[in-house]
Amino acid sequence: MTKNKVLVVVIGIVIMIAVVMVYFFKGQKKNLIETSYLQDNLQISNKDKFNNIAKAGELDWKIRLVNEKNPLPEDFSVELANIDNTRKFDKRAIKYLKEMLEDMKKQSITNIWIQSAYRNIEYQRVLYQKSINRYLKIGKSQEESEELTKKYINKPGTSEHNLGLAVDFNEVDEGFENTKAYKWLQENASIYGFILRYPKDKEEITGIEYEPWHWRYVGQEHAKKMNEESLCLEEYLQKYDNNK
Ligand SMILES: [Zn+2]
Repeated sequence: MTKNKVLVVVIGIVIMIAVVMVYFFKGQKKNLIETSYLQDNLQISNKDKFNNIAKAGELDWKIRLVNEKNPLPEDFSVELANIDNTRKFDKRAIKYLKEMLEDMKKQSITNIWIQSAYRNIEYQRVLYQKSINRYLKIGKSQEESEELTKKYINKPGTSEHNLGLAVDFNEVDEGFENTKAYKWLQENASIYGFILRYPKDKEEITGIEYEPWHWRYVGQEHAKKMNEESLCLEEYLQKYDNNK
């Protein structure tokens, strides 16, 4: 072969490789577009599914009443899933909690975190006793200390935190009601199935003082009805007799 012929063959090979590569990358790009299109569709169908699951949610576990008169049985247990390294939530409801927090962040509400979620009954016992001790220390009687403690901390087994369906946000402080996060929750939490569990105007019925930081999962359908009719969980259960 002459030098020229070799050059022609080499150039030919280079052109062929170039052509093959162009087609290859075109294909890759097309795949990428198709994948992201699929992902968009997947997100939409997940959203539909999420709505359907929430709409179909009429199961009793969502609206289980836990309060002083309705304590959980001693052997109560629930399947939990991790919110993060330390906090846990009911496995059946955690996706709604996570979706709510993600959507808040997407809408620039970044000053929000979960202070407390599921608590086992033993831990609740520790918190309860700590609070009583605090009041005893400042000179209150045992009875007074228990009364004062019960206003904010449920007796072990009577807290929604034992149930795994409640979360406390930020500093567990009334100042939370002045935050953007609180305003957002008031407007949107029911979409994800959450309610403000201890509203200001229901203290007499719930037996718990106003807690702007405490939100309870009850499922989308129940949450919407409760908000529409301004019913707290106790009133809702009484009205719809859903607890049977
Ligand atoms: Zn709470």
